[in-house]
Amino acid sequence: MRLTRYFLPVLKETPSEAQIVSHRYMLRAGMIKQASAGIYSWLPLGYKVLRRIEQIVHDEQIRAGHIPMLMPTLQSAELWRESGRYDDYGQEMLRIKDRHDRDMLYGPTNEELITDIFRSNVSSYRDLPLTLYHIQWKFRDEIRPRFGVMRGREFLMKDGYNFDLTKEDALHAYNRHLVSYLRSYERMGLQAIPMRADGGPIGGDYTHEFLVLAETGESEVFYDSEITDLTFGEREIDYDDHAQCKAVLEEFTSRYARTDETHDEAIFAEVPEERRRVARGIEVGQIFYFGTKYSEAMGANVQGPDGQSVPVHMGSHGIGVSRLLGAIIEASHDDKGIIWPEGVTPFHCGIVNLKQGDAEADAACESLYKALTAKGLEPLYDDRKERAGGKFATMDLIGLPWRITVGPRGLKNGVVELTSRRTGESEEMSPEAAAARVAEIYAGV
Ligand code: ATP
Ligand code: MG
Repeated sequence: MRLTRYFLPVLKETPSEAQIVSHRYMLRAGMIKQASAGIYSWLPLGYKVLRRIEQIVHDEQIRAGHIPMLMPTLQSAELWRESGRYDDYGQEMLRIKDRHDRDMLYGPTNEELITDIFRSNVSSYRDLPLTLYHIQWKFRDEIRPRFGVMRGREFLMKDGYNFDLTKEDALHAYNRHLVSYLRSYERMGLQAIPMRADGGPIGGDYTHEFLVLAETGESEVFYDSEITDLTFGEREIDYDDHAQCKAVLEEFTSRYARTDETHDEAIFAEVPEERRRVARGIEVGQIFYFGTKYSEAMGANVQGPDGQSVPVHMGSHGIGVSRLLGAIIEASHDDKGIIWPEGVTPFHCGIVNLKQGDAEADAACESLYKALTAKGLEPLYDDRKERAGGKFATMDLIGLPWRITVGPRGLKNGVVELTSRRTGESEEMSPEAAAARVAEIYAGV
């Protein structure tokens, strides 16, 4: 993409309404624009990152054997009356009447709808196990929408639902989700720690929240510092292998890590003092096993192997796709702007032409642009007639992990400069070598 042909409305001023760094940078980098309280338009740059995060979530869900689909945002109140949650949900639920005076609502989540789909179509245990998911906009009329996309009213969520014959199978689904979530967050360059949590209105005895440590997080968390040494990494996993998935769950949840809702001082005190941490975190996902709560309320039964009709065991699992943009920025920025992890960056690398209009510099940028594109990469070429300082400031603000700087002086020696956004370190090399290096970096992502 050439910047002169793109839509990147960066702001010079720091918007005064933004209280936390991710919100400020998302506004300043022209990623989002507030449409009304807690509701945002996703401008091209923000939309690009949103799509990349969504793609990682899809990849990892599909890898785990979960099946993508799409349910509507608007739902009929009827199903929610059946489950008993129409009243439970309170004012967070946006209730709407259609022209026939029928009660509708903008879905805050989808347990009812998916259970209805299940009971209408599945009647035998032979069709189990089954996990369906979608990535869809949700609406929750939060009392205090704030921090930009972090606590919106309209937000994008991946929500998945498993249906199993037995509790044991459903707990395997739970473990499978935990593993797939660990992989997803790591691909986004994030450490998200599973912590024991509280069921809330969705209910359930087994539930973990995934938290990204950040001072601006809304949750208070208590954990054993050893947990931050764990990484999932490149290990191979067979998602059908119950024991393997369970071992990962045990590895990642055996140390003390809880949100304030389930925190227990007495147990926490058993952690050696030097490892006890009290901090803040951003919830970027949650997994639940809730047994037969919805299937019993809504009659989602299957015929078991002995011919008897039994309610299925279910769980639901959510990832805050749009909140993740904020969480990633909170975890990865400096005073100049965002620093995107390679896994989610909107463009793979920036090209800065120090002297736009100089025939040699222009030609070198063009051929670099072509070389990167030919390698399957997407560069953002700053081809504006602007001074170098302004171009660098824009690149630093929007946070592309790599920048190639091209200028007449370097070109006399046959070199351009490759700079890491994270370390600020630069290296001179030929344009071909720079393109090859960038391609090599992304080959491993
Ligand atoms: P919170 O405690 O932050 O209100 P929640 O526990 O009610 O969230 P879940 O029902 O677990 O949310 O939804 C799954 C994920 O969706 C959450 O882990 C979070 O990342 C995201 N999410 C929830 N509410 C919002 C919101 N208002 N804005 C953006 N993302 C949200
Ligand atoms: Mg939650």
